[in-house]
Amino acid sequence: MTNESVAAGKVVIFHYTVTNDAGDVLDTSVGAEPLPYLHGSGNIVPGLESAMDGHTVGDTFKATISPEEGYGERTGPGPQPVPRAAFPADLDLQPGMQFAATTESGATIPVWIVRVAEDVVHVDTDHPLAGETLHFDVEIVDIRDATAEEIAHGHPHGRDGRATH
Ligand code: ZN
Repeated sequence: MTNESVAAGKVVIFHYTVTNDAGDVLDTSVGAEPLPYLHGSGNIVPGLESAMDGHTVGDTFKATISPEEGYGERTGPGPQPVPRAAFPADLDLQPGMQFAATTESGATIPVWIVRVAEDVVHVDTDHPLAGETLHFDVEIVDIRDATAEEIAHGHPHGRDGRATH
């Protein structure tokens, strides 16, 4: 146990459950490994990162995050069809998977799979949780100093900082 508090340059390990306005669970780490992130590096949505500030190990708290502090408002045209052949043939395509797409102007943008049909995959330029107000339940499990390598990379290397990649 430490008395450290969440601040820039700390790796924070936390459990979370996130629900939408209707109370549906969108995602949770409970029952699996807690999630490590590097504070101050934009690893998690901005609203959650600021809600974490100053908390200590063992804290539990709730945070309500607006779309603009979460995954953004929905701004795109909605799901667009892409030929199945545009994706690697050996990949088991599933809704929610993220890919990089190249626009006509040559820019690279993220897209998410919404639906998979036989010959066509529908993708959306909006994150699946765009437009949602997110209700987080958080428990801070551990806080440690980031290693120099983690700070250089801008992300944690696992719970103990020893993961390699
Ligand atoms: Zn790394």
